[in-house]
Amino acid sequence: MKETQQKQPPKHPKATFASVYCVILIIVLLMNTLLFPAMAKMSIRTVDYGTFLNMLEEEKLTTVQLEEQVIYFVDKDGASYKTSAIPQDLQIVDRLINAGVKFDRVYEQRTMLDVVLGWVLSLLPLLLLGWWFNRMLRRQMNAAGGAGGINQMMFGGGKSGAKQYVVEEGQSIKFADVAGQDEAKESLQEIVDFLHNPKKYEEIGAKMPKGALLVGPPGTGKTLLARAVAGEAEVPFFSIAGSEFVEMFVGMGASKVRDLFKQASEKAPCIVFIDEIDTIGKKRDSGSGMGGNDEREQTLNQLLTEMDGFDAAKGVVILAATNRPETLDPALLRPGRFDRRVPVELPDLHGREAILRLHAQKVKIGPDCDLNVIARMTPGASGAELANIVNEAALGAVRHGRKAVTQPDLQEAVDTILAGAQKKNAILSEKEKCIVAYHEVGHALVAALQTHSAPVQKITIVPRTSGALGFTMQVDEGERTLMTKEEMLDKIATFTGGRAAEEVVFGSVTTGASNDIEQATKLARAMVTRYGMTEDFDMVALETVQNAYLGGDASLACSQATADRVDEKVVSIVKAQHEKARSLLVENRAKLDEISKYLYERETISGEEFMDILNRKPQLTA
Ligand code: ADP
Ligand code: MG
Ligand code: ZN
Repeated sequence: MKETQQKQPPKHPKATFASVYCVILIIVLLMNTLLFPAMAKMSIRTVDYGTFLNMLEEEKLTTVQLEEQVIYFVDKDGASYKTSAIPQDLQIVDRLINAGVKFDRVYEQRTMLDVVLGWVLSLLPLLLLGWWFNRMLRRQMNAAGGAGGINQMMFGGGKSGAKQYVVEEGQSIKFADVAGQDEAKESLQEIVDFLHNPKKYEEIGAKMPKGALLVGPPGTGKTLLARAVAGEAEVPFFSIAGSEFVEMFVGMGASKVRDLFKQASEKAPCIVFIDEIDTIGKKRDSGSGMGGNDEREQTLNQLLTEMDGFDAAKGVVILAATNRPETLDPALLRPGRFDRRVPVELPDLHGREAILRLHAQKVKIGPDCDLNVIARMTPGASGAELANIVNEAALGAVRHGRKAVTQPDLQEAVDTILAGAQKKNAILSEKEKCIVAYHEVGHALVAALQTHSAPVQKITIVPRTSGALGFTMQVDEGERTLMTKEEMLDKIATFTGGRAAEEVVFGSVTTGASNDIEQATKLARAMVTRYGMTEDFDMVALETVQNAYLGGDASLACSQATADRVDEKVVSIVKAQHEKARSLLVENRAKLDEISKYLYERETISGEEFMDILNRKPQLTA
């Protein structure tokens, strides 16, 4: 019963192969029925009667076939000949009998043999080819994504093409194989826990999120983390790449999704992992010309339907990974679907060192190696790049005929690996890193020094994929829907704080503040036109907001003259706050230097660390 299922719709490598196979088959058939018999005839040499008689004389003949017009004969070497018969030669039969030749069918015997041999010889390689291809296909499927001790089993009757990973005790990838990424691991740990013991959650009535989306730049270990979840949870793990859904035939992708979820619900509790989900999960655009991408849309719709359809309590958890979350269809991110986002960011100094250490265990490392130094050299490098550096260093050691990797090998590897990466990732030079550190501390310090500003939670100068070189995370205490005028002004000052620090310390400015400028301007403009926070305009609405649900496009609703005055007012607000930020930083220059130096070294500092340094009694009293 399984056989019939397995031969279901042609997948495309198979389909291509099948058609090529058919063509070859037809060629072989034609050759066997038409060409080979003709060739068989041709392989009989025609000789003249004299030669025939000579050969008879020399007793070279073994078998002879006498016909009315022709004589076929075979010599001792097995070669076939024919010659035209001469009716007048009446003694020929006697001479042949005396010579002791056998009378038999020569011509027909040969062709029969040819036909049979031809068929066997031409069909055999074809059959072998088919068998070999089948085996190769199977192997390829098994090999795909099969690192570590995860042993995959192709799923018999399924057509989803999803591989089920059977996790082997003691050999699988565990969280310990993922260095750093503590926050991501923590939030995935809960899913592991749920899969271990769904009852515990059920009793309280807690519902697990149906899906978690691993988001982060390429090479940060998203795929690795998903595998580790399976390894930790020890449940069946279905893994499929988004691109595998995109099929040649319309409707195939959708049916694959359906099939995948059917298999998964039979195996629950289990994990379904969709890698690179952006290939199917891209925003559906309304009618982009002809057809758009029907196939992908259908697949996406099916995925959404399936996710809604099944019950999370059953224990099917869907993980997905993407490095382009902004391209995903919002419907995918709605509550009840991928409602948990697990950021997998580029590693900071600590993380980089941990990753280097982990990978260094796999190679012979000499005593002079200082991985901390290497980690310091590689801000902005991803886990994959770091793994690559260790490997490249090992290759370098071999090239130099060394027994173990040395520090110069590692340094050389950093240059080779990161030279290419430099352009695509924002890998900072020392000087840039220093500027970014001051810039970020500028924001944080201005925020902290103003009583109304929320304290900072985290500052980092690890470059983000968003293009931001650094980033200061501020937390508001609780939900803030109402902001006072003072708070808004302080916020504007905080936005200008980054640039202000650059000015105070370096005396020049960089392009790094473009986003800050935009934000500050937006806030200042809103104060004037929407919130009635200026004397000049009092409570007059100068702007109306459209599309409030989509971020809000504001359009001016006033005369040109008023608009000019609004612009002036906005400029003066921002200017005043910028000035305030600058003077705050000048007053606290010592703290600015101290914290920036600290951040420069650590790359990421927490809010507490920041506040500790800020509140520490200054060593030199100013
Ligand atoms: P992604 O799916 O995010 O693009 P992968 O999970 O495929 O990245 O990571 C590629 C490789 O980089 C991994 O196989 C691993 O060797 C290495 N790697 C990446 N991040 C880490 C990490 N945090 N710890 C250890 N190795 C890592
Ligand atoms: Mg990946
Ligand atoms: Zn900034």
